[in-house]
Amino acid sequence: MDYKGIEKFIRPHLLKVNTYDAVDAPEMLAKKAGIRKEDIIKLNGNENPYGPSPKAIQALINSQLHIYPDPLQIRIKEALSEYTGIDSESIVVGAGADELIDLIFRLFISPGDMIVDFEPTFGMYSFCAEIAGADIFYMPRDADFNIDIEFVKSDIPEEAKLLFVTSPNNPTGNIVTENQVKDLLELGRIVVIDEAYFEFAGHSMAHLISEYENLIILRTMSKWAGLAGLRVGYGLMNPQIINHIMRIKPPYSVSNAAEEALLASLNDKDYLLSNVDTIIQGREKLYNSLKEIPHLKVWPSNANFILIEFDKKEPTKVYQELCMKGIFVRSYSSNRLKNCLRVSIGTPEEMDKFIYALTEIIR
Ligand SMILES: *Cc1c(COP(=O)(O)O)cnc(C)c1O
Repeated sequence: MDYKGIEKFIRPHLLKVNTYDAVDAPEMLAKKAGIRKEDIIKLNGNENPYGPSPKAIQALINSQLHIYPDPLQIRIKEALSEYTGIDSESIVVGAGADELIDLIFRLFISPGDMIVDFEPTFGMYSFCAEIAGADIFYMPRDADFNIDIEFVKSDIPEEAKLLFVTSPNNPTGNIVTENQVKDLLELGRIVVIDEAYFEFAGHSMAHLISEYENLIILRTMSKWAGLAGLRVGYGLMNPQIINHIMRIKPPYSVSNAAEEALLASLNDKDYLLSNVDTIIQGREKLYNSLKEIPHLKVWPSNANFILIEFDKKEPTKVYQELCMKGIFVRSYSSNRLKNCLRVSIGTPEEMDKFIYALTEIIR
């Protein structure tokens, strides 16, 4: 068979999708910098520098790899119910919050439907929207990266079905208030509050799910619990939506290994939350150090990263020079963020090296 004509079989809108700009693996980064993998300082993925709970690692060894996972997710939903204070029937677990974002599109969005994206924000919503063939209504955030609620109220198109609100927002670090969320919910569309960084912010809208059937909360074990490589996240929402998601969800997407690690992590949450505290202290220390450096603006953050905006030296140059020193941060191409870099909070030693390198580069 001649495969040259393969594109004619591919769904036309998928030929034009902008691929998600994912972070490179450590091997790639090491190659770029020309150093050993062990020596790179990876501050580009908001990963947890302290790794998983040792109990989660132990649990992996005991997980039953030859048995399919429980499609009803009974044990993990119960454990998450205890952790969140939300009923089991209002919880669904996915292979990362990313799988739940995808499932939300599968459930609600037909080609031609519309979603609202508050730019700049996490790229997965617009990526999934493109794959789903949805139209994206971009509502830019204001000068301080807040959502302009009055603007949303007056300008939201009739056909917009889904609104994605990240809180704390990635990459800007700010949160939405309860009143803002209520105003958005009153618009009568599905409102997704992505709380991937909840543990670093201590601020949640989860208590509103009993009041608003159109509210979906997303959380993840990737950031606070150090399980990014295992892929496990969860959603909190009205049981009706849960039932619809469970009907269309691939039954075994959350592996036994991920289940066991989630259970062990929740059993060891005091340890993990003490690491979260250390990361928050590191964030505040980095914030204060950055404030001392001229020619840059540092945005306050409620998450495990900080957005830095440069007014003199081009951030692409700073980015490149950091790479050459083996330090990897996140850069952006959009107009609003082209002068910005996002740095994840690493260990105190990594932060010292980062500040030292940055000061050297921009002085
Ligand atoms: C990291 C991140 C996620 C992804 O979570 P996974 O559980 O790793 O898929 C979701 N939303 C936001 C805003 C994130 O920054």
